[in-house]
Amino acid sequence: MEMAKQATFPGGVHPADGSDKALTADRPIQLYTPQQVTILMEQTIGGTCQLLVKPGDRVQAGQKIGEAKAFMAADIHASVDGTVLEVKSLEQNGRKAEACVIRTESAGQPAQGHLPYMRALTDLSGWEKEGIIQKLQEGGLAGMGGAGFPAYKKYLTDKKIDTLLINGVECEPYLTCDYRSMLEYSYAIVNGVRLLWKAAGAEKACICIEDNKPLAIERLRQIVKEGEEPLEVTVLPTRYPQGGERQLIQAVLGREVPQGGLPADVGAIVSNIGTAKAAADMVLGGLPLIRRVVTVTGSVKNPGNILVPVGTPVRELLELAGGVTVRQNRVILGGPMTGPCIASDWTPESGEELPFVSKTTSGVLVLPESRLEEQPCMRCEGCVRVCPAGLKPYQIDCAYLEEDYDLCEKLYASECIACGCCSYACPAKRELSFRVRSARDLVKQRQRERAVKK
Ligand code: SF4
Ligand code: SF4
Repeated sequence: MEMAKQATFPGGVHPADGSDKALTADRPIQLYTPQQVTILMEQTIGGTCQLLVKPGDRVQAGQKIGEAKAFMAADIHASVDGTVLEVKSLEQNGRKAEACVIRTESAGQPAQGHLPYMRALTDLSGWEKEGIIQKLQEGGLAGMGGAGFPAYKKYLTDKKIDTLLINGVECEPYLTCDYRSMLEYSYAIVNGVRLLWKAAGAEKACICIEDNKPLAIERLRQIVKEGEEPLEVTVLPTRYPQGGERQLIQAVLGREVPQGGLPADVGAIVSNIGTAKAAADMVLGGLPLIRRVVTVTGSVKNPGNILVPVGTPVRELLELAGGVTVRQNRVILGGPMTGPCIASDWTPESGEELPFVSKTTSGVLVLPESRLEEQPCMRCEGCVRVCPAGLKPYQIDCAYLEEDYDLCEKLYASECIACGCCSYACPAKRELSFRVRSARDLVKQRQRERAVKK
């Protein structure tokens, strides 16, 4: 297999042997529609939307029900046809906002498989940059790799972009939702990449895939050849966290994004493979971002990938997967390296409520272990060696615990990409990633407040 001539990025780990992904890699995507969805009015980080409906209103799948008011927000749409039952305040993964509960009457628009853009490359000659970006904004496009940035904003840059990188590396252990999408929605993805390439005004686009996904590489290479655009499939060696924007740019283009800078500063835009599919759905299928594929895996009876409406209860996904198989467990939203733990020793009988699928929920993972006991730091610097951002996680951890946020800032906590490598490498099982990420958010908040006062 032909590999990209590789620059590389510092740090990183090899957290798994492939058996984790093998649990679901061969399972085709199933469809599921719950009887009720609960849609939080904050689907992107810090991006609260104003709710536009009230109890008793009938809504249709794809109808706008949340209007973006904050800079970081993207519009939110009903994910099913139904009736609004209730509006309530909900806290989910540290996000607190209004939530809209809708009783499902039907799944709404059918799966898009019958539409031409799902089956062949389509004529895009009528689409220009501005029209595409407008559709992405109207469709509530959010980065589907987990970061939750209102992804259409990346394409509004006035910087010169030479390369669009499409992130299909899916380096996080256990997750295969992107992999299955590349196999099952191949044409939609390549059509989406062609649209994003136009929206970026880039010279070329690279679909980046790690070498542990040969079927996806082969499939997309075949399709890319059918088009006329300068698209290529770039194969990378398997390494974590290659899916981080900075790491991907460094690995493929050999360019370093400056501290505090953006990919556009070095002529690149990075979007996830799921974002490309969503872009095709919006522009060519008229479907806003109302569904996503979620990998449900780990210690469950029947792991798999499921296409669900936004707002689907995680509890139902675990039931659909046959239930958890271990008493001592940690339920993670997303992958094991970056996902937050949403419950420990969870059973259906415990009555503990679990969150609801959002635009950025890539997985639900059950790990066969209870919460880990932290030990004191032994200054081994293992966390420093693996940090791809070049930070000293144990020092930031210490400063954060002492509430010395000036020191957190001096230690560049704002540069943390929340990859989880430090926690993975720490022999003392310290919750480094969680606390450095919290320090990062605090430092960034302080920096924003200072900027407003100036
Ligand atoms: S400090 Fe942040 S960037 Fe560095 S390894 Fe930990 S989570 Fe990753
Ligand atoms: S890896 Fe853990 S024990 Fe070692 S220096 Fe970092 S925090 Fe301390």
